[in-house]
Amino acid sequence: MRTIVAGNWKMHKDRTEALDLVMALVAEAETLPAGVEMVIAPPYPFLAMAAERVRGTRITVAAQNCHEAKQGAYTGEVSVAMLGSIGVGACIVGHSERRQYFNETDAAVGRKVKALLEGGLMPIYCCGELLEERQGEQHFAVVERQITEALGALDASALARVVVAYEPVWAIGTGLTASPEQAQEMHAFIRKTLRGLAGDVADAIPILYGGSCKPDNAAGLFSQQDINGGLIGGAALEAASFLELVRIGGRK
Ligand code: PEP
Repeated sequence: MRTIVAGNWKMHKDRTEALDLVMALVAEAETLPAGVEMVIAPPYPFLAMAAERVRGTRITVAAQNCHEAKQGAYTGEVSVAMLGSIGVGACIVGHSERRQYFNETDAAVGRKVKALLEGGLMPIYCCGELLEERQGEQHFAVVERQITEALGALDASALARVVVAYEPVWAIGTGLTASPEQAQEMHAFIRKTLRGLAGDVADAIPILYGGSCKPDNAAGLFSQQDINGGLIGGAALEAASFLELVRIGGRK
């Protein structure tokens, strides 16, 4: 099973800061455990620079969003082909901030996943429940719907190229973390749901945990059976903490 530690920089850093962080990660890339994949998702303006700098290293550059159409009159949007043409290898889609602030639905995110697969990029598909949904014991139903509505139309060979990130919305940027047991319970449920869609292929789909994951809580999370690494926000903005998280991922 693959282990992936991915950093989502969101809308942080200027060009100099972004370059500094990329170079600090590149400098350490060869010292990292062989079994772990490192992915970084800088903002759009820095993707080309990041992709150039990581070329020949073990780091993959991801975008934080894309448009589903191949091209067209979609002012302000970026296509999968554009991303691929500058060396971007992956893309986060369906992050809860995009669902919340940009009204992205499961169906719309599912179309982005399909476009990414057709364009040869690795989709990192985010799902996860709101606090009130967990308190109302709706969390399994919500995540099942997110998975089946966005990914249900893919055949097994397409699904095999998807990475899923479970990010309980109440844990993102809040300092609250799902306990390793809560996270494992949901990851096992996600894997069961994926198995219902794709059979045994599901056993090899990486399922990342995201939500206030830091060096001091990652070991407990990443050691769980169905947790195959992390999607990291705040702790991915500093080289030292992100590299530490990648190293912890490498122990899996
Ligand atoms: C995220 O937004 O994907 C995330 C996990 O953020 P943080 O680690 O800051 O909670």
